[in-house]
Amino acid sequence: MSATMNYLDGNAAAGELSRIFATDLTSAEGQCANCAAKMRFAESHLYSHCPGLVARCALCGHVLLRFANVRGRLFLDLRGMTYLRIDAAKQEEASN
Ligand SMILES: [Zn+2]
Repeated sequence: MSATMNYLDGNAAAGELSRIFATDLTSAEGQCANCAAKMRFAESHLYSHCPGLVARCALCGHVLLRFANVRGRLFLDLRGMTYLRIDAAKQEEASN
């Protein structure tokens, strides 16, 4: 890991997010509320060496998601995304 690349990809958030969502969000498509880029959540830049997790847009760096576990209370902030689209049919296919 170089000094300029201090993040993981969004796939690294799968474990923590599975505490809230029964479906895998890393394959969901989201739209950045700042630059309107549409991409899979897995393509976001995930910063995990802060309290909780912060996912940023791979294009403009805008915060897409913040997640924190404070003594068993889970906080989720999705304001950085216009939407998060989950393809339920693919999720069901993968689980079968
Ligand atoms: Zn963006």
